[in-house]
Amino acid sequence: PVIHPFTWMPPSGSLTPEAWYGQYTCLERGEGSWVYDTHGNAYLYTTTAVPAVGLGHWQVIRAMKEQMEKLSFASTCAQTHNLVQALAEKLISLCSRRYSKVFFANDGSGAVETAMRMVRQHFITRGESRREMFISLDGSYHGTTYGSGSVTHLGIREMFGKGLEGCLCAPTPNLYRPPAGTDSPESAAAFCLKELERIITEAGPENIAAVLVEPIQAVNGIVLMPESFFKQLRALTRQYGILVIADEVTTGLGRAGYWSLSEHYGLEPDVLAVSKGLTGGYFPMGAALISDALDSSLFGEGGILLHGSTQCGHPVGCAAALAVLDIIEQERLPDNALLRGKDLINGFRESLDDHPCVGDIRGQGLMLALEFVKDKQTKEPVDYEWGKKLTKLLHGEGILGNYFNGILLMYPPLNVSEEECDFLIHGVSRALRRMR
Ligand code: PMP
Repeated sequence: PVIHPFTWMPPSGSLTPEAWYGQYTCLERGEGSWVYDTHGNAYLYTTTAVPAVGLGHWQVIRAMKEQMEKLSFASTCAQTHNLVQALAEKLISLCSRRYSKVFFANDGSGAVETAMRMVRQHFITRGESRREMFISLDGSYHGTTYGSGSVTHLGIREMFGKGLEGCLCAPTPNLYRPPAGTDSPESAAAFCLKELERIITEAGPENIAAVLVEPIQAVNGIVLMPESFFKQLRALTRQYGILVIADEVTTGLGRAGYWSLSEHYGLEPDVLAVSKGLTGGYFPMGAALISDALDSSLFGEGGILLHGSTQCGHPVGCAAALAVLDIIEQERLPDNALLRGKDLINGFRESLDDHPCVGDIRGQGLMLALEFVKDKQTKEPVDYEWGKKLTKLLHGEGILGNYFNGILLMYPPLNVSEEECDFLIHGVSRALRRMR
């Protein structure tokens, strides 16, 4: 049977089932950074940010097995259990002590959805129920649920109509494709903040609940923004009593080189959403960490709180997450992400800078992107056929990347070795030399 690989493809544009030709592979097993298809072909896995510690890690498997034998299920709606408590504490200690409670979800979309709901409940509790609107950035991807999908501005909202009302879009200070009329990272940030303030004042600050932001836009192509933008965004939102949700579903927990990139950037979000690397792919899970400000309203006098999915905070998922986070911590994998990430960028620059179609080589930690263009001046993206050919060649090199709309995204596991990085550099470079 032909199985449609994605359920979120819009009917138009380049996102057709065929666009994934050459990448759509039927996998059978995996070990470390490698996966094997049903024909026994090996591929270096870099498609998603999920397998933080690689596949089949014995420590994670052992922890999950032990937990399955001990307590294979408990619903955190009705009871609690020791591991969910330990995991909440661990997340707060790793990300920031500014957070005081953790709500668990079943994936990244659920973590963002939870964050949005908590923000709404906070304002209702405080008698500011008018604050219903959310602002997020152009090109953002926040998830597949109705709420998280409504704050996603990546051209896929059309799939389900307008989405939630009052989800506004502000410009992104994209470093490679800056807003028209700006000529430096600083002027791009200043322009976007000015626009954001205009949107806030036009909608009425008293109607706005939160601004959602990915410190690096993942799905949109690892879009980097000026670091200064985030502190300034925080100052602006504070001025209007608007909260900030950091979506670190992809960037968080070591992937970008820090436990929390928004913390490193000084964004000081009120809610932090994490997922992918949290269990490293051994169990679906997400989490929303809430700061003291929300904690005191939600759990204080008159606080209202209705939240919880039956299976979130699953004990086996918590065992996986605790084991994965321990490995990330003990093996200092955020540092490895920074080191290997720099090597990869340097390696790609050395071999690809003069390639006529390589418009940009960028990344942060182990989230890397190569953006391909027809012309380096106009930055016109390569066409569909070009991408199709490249993904096939990469496949032949034993590399599973994530090619989308002229951008190759790569997320090797956080414990990827130097040799595996060399394999990636040489494989990608060889494939691209054949594309000249
Ligand atoms: N937020 C961001 C920043 C993401 O990259 C993603 C997934 N690509 C999500 C939310 C949604 O996560 P999930 O696919 O686990 O629901």
